[in-house]
Amino acid sequence: MKRLFIFFFIINSYCFAGNYSDVIEQAKKYLDNSISSDYVSNDSLLYSDFVRIRDYFNYSLLVKNRRCRGRFSSYVAYVIPSEKPRNLKIYICKKFKSLSKESLAQTLIHEVSHLVIGPDEHVATRYETLATYLGGRTPELNGYNSGQIIFDIIEDFTDKNFIDRNMDYFVLMNIRTKSKFRELLLRTYAVYGECTKFETVLTQLCTEDKSCKDNILSRKDDFGLSISDVNLNCRS
Ligand SMILES: [Zn+2]
Repeated sequence: MKRLFIFFFIINSYCFAGNYSDVIEQAKKYLDNSISSDYVSNDSLLYSDFVRIRDYFNYSLLVKNRRCRGRFSSYVAYVIPSEKPRNLKIYICKKFKSLSKESLAQTLIHEVSHLVIGPDEHVATRYETLATYLGGRTPELNGYNSGQIIFDIIEDFTDKNFIDRNMDYFVLMNIRTKSKFRELLLRTYAVYGECTKFETVLTQLCTEDKSCKDNILSRKDDFGLSISDVNLNCRS
C-alpha cells in the first residue's frame, strides 16, 4: 500500500508540473483588457492581430516544462511553429518555471504572437509588451529590447523614431530617458532574479546613495507595484 501511494504521488506531481492554467487565464485577461482599450481598438491592424492572438487561447493550448539545453539554453520559453493548431505546445524552460504567473503570461503572449504572426522578434516583443501594459501591469524587457542599442539611442530618439521601429510601447510607457530605461531594466532583473545585473544597474542609477536606492526600489509604478514588490530575492 505504501508503495502504491508513492506511485500515485509521482504520477500526480508529473501531471501538475505542466499545469499553467492560471498563467493562461492571466494572459487572456491581459489580452481582453488590451482589446477593449482605445489604444488597440483605434488601430485596425493591431486590433485584428490581438483578436487573432486571443483566439489562440481558446484552443487547447498545452504549456509544458522543458529543460532547454543547447540553442535553447538562454530561452525563457519557445514554440515550434509547425505544430498543428489545436494541438499547440508552448515550452517553458524549467529554470524559469518559478517566475510569477504575470511574467509567464507575458511570455506566453510573446510565443503565441509568433504562432499567429510569424518569427519577427520585433512584432512578438511589441505585442507582449503592449498587451501586458494595457492589460494592467508593467512589462518586463526581453533579450530583444533590453540591449545596449536601445540605451545608446534612447535620448536621441523622437516618438516617431520609436513608432517606426515598432517600439511605440516606450512612448506609451513614457520611457524616453536613459534613467527611465535603466529603471525598467532594473525591474526586469529583479523579476528574473538576475542579481548581479540588478546590482550593476542599481549602482549606475544611484552610485552608493542609499536613499536613492530605497526610493527607486519602493516607488510605485502605474499599477501600484514597486520593484521591491516584484523582486525575486535580489538584495539591494
Ligand atoms: Zn521570440
